[in-house]
Amino acid sequence: MRNRIVLQGIRQTFEDGGSERVILNELDLEVAEGELVAIMGPSGSGKSTFLSIAGALLEPQQGQVLLDGKSITGKESKDIAEIRLRNIGFIFQSANLIPYLKVEEQLILVAKLAGVDKSEASKRATVLLDTLALSARRTAYPDKLSGGERQRVAIARALMNDPAVLLADEPTASLDADRGHDVVSLIEKQAKEQRKSAVMVTHDERILSLCDRVLYLENGKLNAK
Ligand code: ADP
Ligand code: MG
Repeated sequence: MRNRIVLQGIRQTFEDGGSERVILNELDLEVAEGELVAIMGPSGSGKSTFLSIAGALLEPQQGQVLLDGKSITGKESKDIAEIRLRNIGFIFQSANLIPYLKVEEQLILVAKLAGVDKSEASKRATVLLDTLALSARRTAYPDKLSGGERQRVAIARALMNDPAVLLADEPTASLDADRGHDVVSLIEKQAKEQRKSAVMVTHDERILSLCDRVLYLENGKLNAK
């Protein structure tokens, strides 16, 4: 089974009042296709830093990130932006939808940015909206959606360019227990069916049973517990 995302020897430090604080220390992670890994850890342990590096939003000081076996570390920023757009799907704590775009347009936009033609993008959006039970909300604006619907649109948008990897930062934080469970079930199902690797940072104990592995970020490394 291939690992769609691999992090090797990641080290990240930040300046803290004149001294250097080590946030990530020789951190390693491999996530296989179809696998959903949950990352937990106290506030300030480096979870967001880890996710930024995994998602090519932040270049690590040491180590490398591989997507489908190829290193994305050390590339030019324009290439990195392209890799992010095509190979990584982000799902954030709040859905971050664009207020003046209808549901369907939110999806079509990211495909257009990747150079997909309009009719192809529109077809794919229709399929994804159907998959995520959003067909009836196709022409709704974000402010007319419930919290769960918004997160489902964010998942559909993250899947639009068929990325290798799904990265989620506390995707259930703004949802009640049932909706949170539904949203993570959908992430898990998409990872399995579409053979993607998924990594989710969470504080939400209730959804851990849906994950294949739970890792704890401690002292700059990811450990099983
Ligand atoms: P978490 O998401 O687990 O709460 P973060 O990754 O956001 O943790 O932050 C880990 C530590 O690194 C915190 O102490 C934070 O203040 C520090 N930190 C994060 N980003 C920066 C930055 N850009 N510059 C300086 N310190 C940072
Ligand atoms: Mg954080």
